[in-house]
Amino acid sequence: MKDKTPRLSNKWLSQLKSSGYKLTGPRCCVVEILTHTEKALSAMDIFNQAHERYPSIGLVSIYRTLDKLEMLGLIQRVHQKEKCHAYIAAPNGHEHLLVCRSCGKISYFKGDDLHTLVHGVEEKSGYQVSEHWLQLIGVCQECQNTNMHIVLG
Ligand SMILES: [Zn+2]
Ligand SMILES: [Zn+2]
Repeated sequence: MKDKTPRLSNKWLSQLKSSGYKLTGPRCCVVEILTHTEKALSAMDIFNQAHERYPSIGLVSIYRTLDKLEMLGLIQRVHQKEKCHAYIAAPNGHEHLLVCRSCGKISYFKGDDLHTLVHGVEEKSGYQVSEHWLQLIGVCQECQNTNMHIVLG
């Protein structure tokens, strides 16, 4: 596991605690897993990882912890073709997701030029649009390089 954000898990744990959530070992384990992943994980992925450390952990408690983390805005859902959705740490502020379809790595990007589009949709539909989710799917640079090596033999 890559420890690029050692303090992120502490931040999450203190937010969970201050919202009245009891920090049991299995719950801390879910936090640990989600703050140390570059890939979006489904509840089942998390369960499989957590199960190695806490054989008694149940899928239900994984779902409950995910619900709580989502409610606190600490994680966000990632839509995936094969699974209905997976979870990844929420970005700081308004950022959008870039998902590599080859290795599953998630990165974020800032800035979008959706104003004109959203405005046009509002005009046509009569909606007042208040938010949007944007997720771009492609192949990351590392995977492109790897594929090139394979082609070049
Ligand atoms: Zn990739
Ligand atoms: Zn945006």
